Amino acid sequence: MSIAPIINSPAASGLSPTLPPAPANPREELAKLLDGRYPDARGRYGPFGGRFVPETLIPAITRLEQVAREAFNDTSFLDELSMHQRDWIGRPTPLCHAANLSKLWGVDLWLKREDLAHTGAHKINNALGQALLARRLGVQRIIAETGAGQHGVATAAACARLGFACRVYMGAADVERQAPNVQRMKRLGAEVVPVESGDRTLRAAIDEALRDWVSDPMGTHYLLGSAVGPHPFPFLVRSFQSVIGREARAQFHERTGRLPDQAYACVGGGSNAIGFFHGFLGDERVELFGVEAGGHGDKPGEHSSTIARGRPGVLHGCYSMLLQDENGQIIDTHSISAGLDYPGVGPEHSFLHHIGRVTYIAASDDDAITGVRSLCRHEGILPALEPSHAIGAIARLAPSLKGKSILVHLCGRGDKDAPILQAHGV
Ligand SMILES: *Cc1c(COP(=O)(O)O)cnc(C)c1O
Repeated sequence: MSIAPIINSPAASGLSPTLPPAPANPREELAKLLDGRYPDARGRYGPFGGRFVPETLIPAITRLEQVAREAFNDTSFLDELSMHQRDWIGRPTPLCHAANLSKLWGVDLWLKREDLAHTGAHKINNALGQALLARRLGVQRIIAETGAGQHGVATAAACARLGFACRVYMGAADVERQAPNVQRMKRLGAEVVPVESGDRTLRAAIDEALRDWVSDPMGTHYLLGSAVGPHPFPFLVRSFQSVIGREARAQFHERTGRLPDQAYACVGGGSNAIGFFHGFLGDERVELFGVEAGGHGDKPGEHSSTIARGRPGVLHGCYSMLLQDENGQIIDTHSISAGLDYPGVGPEHSFLHHIGRVTYIAASDDDAITGVRSLCRHEGILPALEPSHAIGAIARLAPSLKGKSILVHLCGRGDKDAPILQAHGV
């Protein structure tokens, strides 16, 4: 069975690969997002999003959306979610002033410490939330995809805690590169399936997970790990990750009596960034920056700057910005960090770019290394390579940011990156 071409083909969707015209009233478009008119009934955020999947998945996806909307209005669900968030994840995660780097760079730098969440990154917020939803769905089995392994570990942990059988699809190349996380998943009781097809990395793993789901849509929940995929996944993932932005805004205000001038988060599929940004989208004076992986060059294959360099198209069930060639074929990506190495991006980010509420910039592999070094040496924190792109961007831009208060989402810790760091002499 081959369903990936149906899911991936822009031609099959009849959607335009050219950028839609800028909206006449961006403020009204943002209002629709903030008051819940987006995602609309078709799962769209303005022109982006939707659900481009085989017919066989529609009943499962429709049921998932219904069950989620009921759960989000049920205090017993929300109470259980916050109990696990507090006792098991360790929420709220701290807000931390980076006093030494502030002095060095002439800014006022603050970090939202999601690296201190259970299993070491933000992924656990979504894994826990969707596993609780899977209970209400009545499924027996959960499947997931993973790139570097962080989402696989988070899903394996949530499945162990809530009593689900768990299978994780992982590109064979990533299985080789990320051995410690493969061991962690297995120790937590998950079955790890190496995917030999396609690019042998995350994109192939998602294709394979979708294939599995098609074979048993009603008995299985596909626990998607980023704010991508067909509606309602981008909405679900954002809902479970937005606890980060809510906490960060309240903590920042409590500590400083104001809001930051600027807030930064790295963008792969976009889950950590969307959860973080949602705390501030309604605060017009807070400038928001999404940091994509600029890799080691501007040519196709050298970076993963999807929004900066992509065009709209359909990948993995949704219409969003995409790195593709003239024929709509997906272009290979590169980033020093496995978590940012994805040719697509969540539709809500494409929308926020489209209406100009968030500015998307690129930070290179070298910027990321600078970011890791800076936080290690000056703040005693070993960050993951992904958020180090945001730190590195600030290091580079610092001369133009003098005196600004800046909040960075430090979405993961760096233990997983030890082999890459060693190879780069860090
Ligand atoms: C997975 C991961 C990312 C990238 O995923 P998003 O969905 O863009 O957040 C970024 N940082 C860390 C630490 C990750 O584990």
